[in-house]
Amino acid sequence: MIPYRHEPFTDFSKEENRKKLDSGLETVSEYLGKEYPLIINGERIYTEKKLESYNPAQKSETIGYMSQAGREDADRAMEAAKETFKTWRKHSFEFRSDVLFKAAAIIRKRKFEFSALLVKEAGKPWNEADADTAEAIDFLEYYGRKQLELKDGAYVESRPGEYNQFNYISLGVGLVISPWNFAFAIMAGTTAAALVTGNTVLLKPSSRTPIVAYKFIEVLEEAGMPAGVVNFIPGSSRDIGDYLVEHKDTAFISFTGSRDVGVSIYEKAAKVQDGQVNLKRVIAEMGGKDTIVVDSDADLELAADSIVKSAFGFSGQKCSACSRVIALSDIHDELLEKVVAKTKDLTVGNPESDIYMGPVIDDASLEKIEKYIEIGKQEGKLEIGGTTDNETGHFVNPTVFSGLKHNDRVMQEEIFGPVVGFAKADNFDQAIEFANDTDYGLTGAVLTKNRAHIEQAREDFHVGNLYFNRGCTGAIVGYQAFGGFKMSGTDSKAGGPDYLLLHMQGKTTSEML
Ligand code: GLU
Repeated sequence: MIPYRHEPFTDFSKEENRKKLDSGLETVSEYLGKEYPLIINGERIYTEKKLESYNPAQKSETIGYMSQAGREDADRAMEAAKETFKTWRKHSFEFRSDVLFKAAAIIRKRKFEFSALLVKEAGKPWNEADADTAEAIDFLEYYGRKQLELKDGAYVESRPGEYNQFNYISLGVGLVISPWNFAFAIMAGTTAAALVTGNTVLLKPSSRTPIVAYKFIEVLEEAGMPAGVVNFIPGSSRDIGDYLVEHKDTAFISFTGSRDVGVSIYEKAAKVQDGQVNLKRVIAEMGGKDTIVVDSDADLELAADSIVKSAFGFSGQKCSACSRVIALSDIHDELLEKVVAKTKDLTVGNPESDIYMGPVIDDASLEKIEKYIEIGKQEGKLEIGGTTDNETGHFVNPTVFSGLKHNDRVMQEEIFGPVVGFAKADNFDQAIEFANDTDYGLTGAVLTKNRAHIEQAREDFHVGNLYFNRGCTGAIVGYQAFGGFKMSGTDSKAGGPDYLLLHMQGKTTSEML
């Protein structure tokens, strides 16, 4: 087998690649506005209740109408998943990994169509859409390989006359609840990890981006996934989400989304229901309030580029996004000036043409960001941005605040938009102290040339993903396992060497000879 290498990113400065993306957009345009069904046990079910998925850059453009699962559909999906689990768990490790490898190959062939769909359904600029598609491929390739490594379990000792084995077996039915911000990568990655480990899945994708999820299930089917392994049930938390979290037969929940929802799932899953025989596992990837620390001797050009890219890439709608800068006092002003100048150059608009920043996802998101812009104006000084345009799409201009204290609200609460705040620190110890002083612990970066400070941060900057002399977004599957501490989640480390084990349990067998 070819060793794992991450899928290369597309260079859109090349005319030929721009053409490929354009033709992807054409392909997607041909299927805009269609109705989509649930998929339960391979069966297509069109429900009366449907939700429109629309283009956040062009609100009048419908991507598709997605059927919505109700209680009965959830029950049917659970029954199908339970029944299919009986056979799926016995399929060979090779068979299950092959489904992922084939799916990766199919997606690679349709790469620009998928990226174009993300441009339209999630409002992603080209490079961000391309990275999302590449990451989906990476998860499939990486988890496929990792699963094969687990095939023979782990070596354990045996005494004379005894034969011991230690194997990894599946858990049962997993509920996967995926987000809109990595509508392809995280949806595909969390689903693939759950299914390749021999579990069956109930997939409830984000209601903002269900069409790309539907297209992914089609790919899995084409790749040989048997009916009933992944049951596709878009629907609301109120109608089916909470119900399935609390269901006695749910073995585990793999959730990526907001802190509030994650905490509530964690609490609900802990309660043992009548007739329940397994303690549920919860894999939760939640929010972030991620800090870039800039030291006195840092390369300020690199620091400014890292901040701008991490704060404004995909309009700051990543849990890894930089929303706090802690700068040492002596370089603070120069750094701020550079960041503001670079921010001025950013283009904002419909990502169908190659611009830097597209829209935010919906009205609620725009309103929340506007609220924090007002709070930021009270707490600090608005340096640039602070304006929005909600006419044709949900646009927010990249926004920088200075003069903040590290514990101001805009420096503590997750905004999930293109807003970054600056605070000063007197010395490096204080910078790390300020950086750690949030409820979250997902990503962080330190820009410094000081080796002792790098080692100090490595020990004391308490985040799941810590980067030196670069930005704090863009973890690569198989290279930078991704997941956070504290209120950022269960540190499940997606794309990491241990991730699949969260979906399995160890079984010891001991035979006397
Ligand atoms: N893995 C992504 C990154 O490293 C972020 C994922 C997320 O925002 O949920 O930037």
